[in-house]
Amino acid sequence: MELVSYHADDGIRVAGLRGDSLIDLQDADANLPSTMRDWLNAGRGIWSSTQAAIASGEAIPLQDVRIAPPVPHPAKIVCVGLNYADHAAESGSEPPPEPVIFNKFPTALRSHGETIELPSLSTQVDYEAELVVVIGREGKHISESEALEYVAGYCCGHDVSARDWQLNKPGKQWLLGKTFDTFAPVGPKLVTADVIPDPGNLRIQFRLNGETMQDSHTSQLIFSVPHLVAYLSGVVTLLPGDLIFTGTPPGVGVARKPPVFLQAGDTAEVEIEHLGVLSNPVSREPS
Ligand code: MN
Repeated sequence: MELVSYHADDGIRVAGLRGDSLIDLQDADANLPSTMRDWLNAGRGIWSSTQAAIASGEAIPLQDVRIAPPVPHPAKIVCVGLNYADHAAESGSEPPPEPVIFNKFPTALRSHGETIELPSLSTQVDYEAELVVVIGREGKHISESEALEYVAGYCCGHDVSARDWQLNKPGKQWLLGKTFDTFAPVGPKLVTADVIPDPGNLRIQFRLNGETMQDSHTSQLIFSVPHLVAYLSGVVTLLPGDLIFTGTPPGVGVARKPPVFLQAGDTAEVEIEHLGVLSNPVSREPS
């Protein structure tokens, strides 16, 4: 199944995708929830009725609605650094022996099509294509063998990164450099885990103004999705709707000679096999 969140008259609602159309789940079946959070909280027990609703419900043309991030208000946005060996090498780092974890605040979240704003406080804004995991079930101390049962699905994500903050500020401000407003585009849709039996087998690409800058495969992840879910759940309770950005492959702008940074007028695209294309225009932050 493919699900989106969209702006309706009464707020942001959850819908399924059928071709170029959207099916509001609750309008199609009054027993289904109206929001993505409630849909995730309900668990896999409602997946078959959701599928039936998407197959039979009234279609709204996608071009008539404004899409929101698939999970509009996640409790956590967790990110993994240096999770591809070649990217660690281009960053001048050894592959880490354990996952390197940081986070973004929900105010950074944006949908497919929304603008990435270059902040006035940074001159080195870089791109990072990433597979994003959407947690579907509450858990603590989850074993690696059961970890995928806690995953509802996957999205494309863009870990926009202010390198001057991340690398040059005192103490290396990873969190602040990664969490300027608009620095977490996610979307366009959530593809459920039944469609993606192996998140470690997906081609992942980033294009800047149509030119391919990153082209890799999630088989290159140092720490797999099950390992990351298990590792994180040893520290924090994972909740339905939590997002995990799983790290970026090689080809980022700061490692290029000369370096490439995002500029106003650019178009940034993340494409992941089976998950679609997440496209965002880039502009200067309004002053
Ligand atoms: Mn990243």
